[in-house]
Amino acid sequence: MEHLKNSGLRRPFHVPYPLSSSALPGFNGDVTKEEKTTAALFLDLTDDYLDGGYRKHREPYECTGDPPTGTSGAFFSESGEKTPGAPESAATADTAPENAVPAEDEDSLEKVAEDIGHCTRCGLCKTRTNTVPGEGVPRPLVMVIGEGPGADEDATGRPFVGRAGQLLDRMLDSRGKIGLSRTRNCYIANVVKCRPPGNRNPQPDEIIACVPFLARQITILKPTVILALGNTAAKTLLDNTEGITRLRGLFTVFSGPLFMSGKTEIPLLPTFHPSALLRDQSLKTPVWEDLKTLRAKLCELNRRYAAEMANIPL
Ligand code: SF4
Repeated sequence: MEHLKNSGLRRPFHVPYPLSSSALPGFNGDVTKEEKTTAALFLDLTDDYLDGGYRKHREPYECTGDPPTGTSGAFFSESGEKTPGAPESAATADTAPENAVPAEDEDSLEKVAEDIGHCTRCGLCKTRTNTVPGEGVPRPLVMVIGEGPGADEDATGRPFVGRAGQLLDRMLDSRGKIGLSRTRNCYIANVVKCRPPGNRNPQPDEIIACVPFLARQITILKPTVILALGNTAAKTLLDNTEGITRLRGLFTVFSGPLFMSGKTEIPLLPTFHPSALLRDQSLKTPVWEDLKTLRAKLCELNRRYAAEMANIPL
């Protein structure tokens, strides 16, 4: 990876960078941040794989502003300004790729939802009825992250509104014992924002295409805690190949995958997806244990929540 650091590329979402399409075989025309995200993710994963399979901690790549070597790369800062050294023939801000990511302090949930609404980055756009960006409060105690929309969510454009969603709402509140809800202190979203046909699992390429939206949402929302529902959410967020049965119930630190900017450390608790509970009632007990673990962590981290819970015995 030394060559990558020396090339002047730093991690995506910061990058005003000179990474031309000629450096990325298969990428045509202007290289978008998402394409660079994919390339950086792939290169780091390859590096980890070749080096024994363990994920390394990495500092962000710093852009050194290498002079451009061609005219096909993207040479725009996140504000759309041309960076020094960009050739006159490079695209202007007006013609910058439509899926360019706004600077962190200019981004908002509304912008993310709008971008998702126009998104055609993966094949799921062809079969969706509605995109499902997510919903909840803007500064949530808990960001609940599932896998992808189902039929009811696709029909309404809202996350977790079918049977599994109703169960999730009951789980989060648990008759006041957990005291969480999407209208008061949670934000609910999914890893992919369009329905995989027939409720199949999202494919890796679909997750890679979509996950920058989730990264933007996490960056904007800054939740106190993340609750990851099921295998896809837990594996994606933790970059881990362990199954949910092993991961559930144990708090870990979500330190931000490669596509996120800055230092992000958010306690993350994986648990079973409510659809799994609908299929297998025996999972109710471990999920209740996980919810109690979640409550304890929130009491530790938030005084107001702790005060609310003080008089509600488990
Ligand atoms: S699933 Fe995500 S990446 Fe794919 S089309 Fe929908 S919003 Fe775009």
